[in-house]
Amino acid sequence: MRFSHTCPKCSSTEIYVSKGRKHHNHGNKIMISTFKVVPLDHYTCIDCGYTEEWVTDKKSLDFLRRKARTQKPRDNFTDFV
Ligand SMILES: [Zn+2]
Repeated sequence: MRFSHTCPKCSSTEIYVSKGRKHHNHGNKIMISTFKVVPLDHYTCIDCGYTEEWVTDKKSLDFLRRKARTQKPRDNFTDFV
């Protein structure tokens, strides 16, 4: 949707784009910590309401890449077997 500008659910080309803001109290974002905010861009289909969220800020993606490398995998359910 972000690149095709076409809704994957209903094929509409009427897409509303809402850009996330980094230094704003309100708006689209992920709170990583008290001091770290990752802005989210929303792409919403005007016809069916389907919405996608994208992190488009390159510095935020680099930050998340570093953070992901230090995370432990959470989908390990072998302890429950
Ligand atoms: Zn749609």
